[in-house]
Amino acid sequence: MNIILLGPPGAGKGTQAHRLEQQRGMVQLSTGDMLRHAVAAGTPIGLKAKAVMAAGELVSDAIVSALIGERLDTSVDKGAIFDGFPRTQHQAEALDLLLADRARKLDHVIELDVNEEALVDRITGRFSCANCGAGYHDRFKLPRVENTCDVCSAHEFHRRPDDNEQTVRTRMAEYRAKTAPILPYYRERGLVRAVEGMASVDEVARQIDAILDGAPALPF
Ligand code: AMP
Repeated sequence: MNIILLGPPGAGKGTQAHRLEQQRGMVQLSTGDMLRHAVAAGTPIGLKAKAVMAAGELVSDAIVSALIGERLDTSVDKGAIFDGFPRTQHQAEALDLLLADRARKLDHVIELDVNEEALVDRITGRFSCANCGAGYHDRFKLPRVENTCDVCSAHEFHRRPDDNEQTVRTRMAEYRAKTAPILPYYRERGLVRAVEGMASVDEVARQIDAILDGAPALPF
């Protein structure tokens, strides 16, 4: 099964993708994570992407589509979760070709329906464990013991440089202008299912599981 998680920054795509990896053995394909690794490693792609990402703008379609193509050639037998890709119409078309070339298809596009203003609060307070990646938040989810990861007890934490308010607003604007308009492309094919992205992590998980396990679509 191959699915796209679609929603603005901070909608919870990464959180749900991690859970699906753990519970279903699917593989998260996050172009944001791939680009951050490229930046950290100082590869030619990373050097190109660094300033674009810091500004909250979109990296070129050719670069991200190539990254996804490479990852699709590695083991994704139990299915791929596209997280943060596609973000433009060109990328959506590129993904169709990449999947068709590998005799794969898209099963669902899951739209995380969210309130943008609340997302700015969600994103600007978030941080994660530098060792295991567990997610925290200044107001909603501090570690149980100060400065100590609940999961692995590490003491180093990390904040994304693009999680500041100004960049977040640009990222939202990019989503509205370039990514939300690809929804009709998938709606026409009957692939889009919406979930209530402002609900608790567990409730969003429940709604996604119902879709993946074949619950019929509600009329809307
Ligand atoms: P994310 O982790 O998905 O929020 O992505 C972080 C940043 O990486 C974005 O703000 C973009 O600059 C870049 N990026 C990630 N995925 C894409 C994509 N599919 N197309 C273009 N730029 C991307």
